[in-house]
Amino acid sequence: MTDFSRRDVLKLTLLASTAVLTTAVSAPTNAADLPALTETDPVGAALGYKEASSKVDVKKYPNFKPDQYCNNCKLIQGDAKSLRRPCSIFPGKSVAAKGWCAAYVKL
Ligand code: SF4
Repeated sequence: MTDFSRRDVLKLTLLASTAVLTTAVSAPTNAADLPALTETDPVGAALGYKEASSKVDVKKYPNFKPDQYCNNCKLIQGDAKSLRRPCSIFPGKSVAAKGWCAAYVKL
């Protein structure tokens, strides 16, 4: 089982704080206007972002559950019917509705 280190928790807290501050000063944008977050994006990769939650490395992220994906994460924004939506963790990018990352928070 992989445990988050104190450093990982601090990084996630800093990322989330930055995202909240960014979100506070700018309303969510239409995801169609945003570039897609990629799995190779440095922050995305650090959080294990996958475009399809079915591709999550369950050995690396043992807390992942098959019913977790961006569309039912508390941090997603925008229109629930869109295939790509803004996410408060990745300001200025869109994430896949069926994607997932380690910052997932159950809705
Ligand atoms: Fe954003 Fe949540 Fe998807 Fe992670 S799981 S990319 S935090 S919406």
